[in-house]
Amino acid sequence: MAFCLVPDLIFPALTDVTAEALRSRGITFLMMDFDNTIVPYTTDVPTEKMRAWIEAMKASGIGLCVVSNSKKPRVVTFCKTYGLDCVTHAKKPFQKGISECLTRFHLRPSQAALVGDQIYTDVLGANCAGLTSILVSAIDNHTIWLKLRHVAELPFIAWGKRRIRYEKH
Ligand SMILES: [Mg+2]
Repeated sequence: MAFCLVPDLIFPALTDVTAEALRSRGITFLMMDFDNTIVPYTTDVPTEKMRAWIEAMKASGIGLCVVSNSKKPRVVTFCKTYGLDCVTHAKKPFQKGISECLTRFHLRPSQAALVGDQIYTDVLGANCAGLTSILVSAIDNHTIWLKLRHVAELPFIAWGKRRIRYEKH
């Protein structure tokens, strides 16, 4: 819907997103980016905290699906291992993967949020699709390119934080 790079919500990490925070906004389904949101690029093994969060979120009744631009089999393998649905080759910020997920789970955009670590793919894709966009910090910006991209994201993160503060008051 809106071409907007500003996130609706910002959390330090995926494990800080709670079912209550989602439900209070009418959100019953969470699409999740994979790389650097659930695990870093360098490992397929989630932290104990992340495993516990996935199980707690499943138990809360919030629907979950990984929506990743990755074409690597590691995403599918991870999702099978931890009992998550997944859409790969999602082409965020374009609508392909997000639309596929909405159709698969019979969702209206207003019922869903998309959480990820990148403004130019995850946040933009969510905003364009009419989903609630949630930005989390990348688990590990280990290359110079990831660091530079993060610098280019900073104005939009600051804008999002200001808007969130303003809405609270
Ligand atoms: Mg990512």
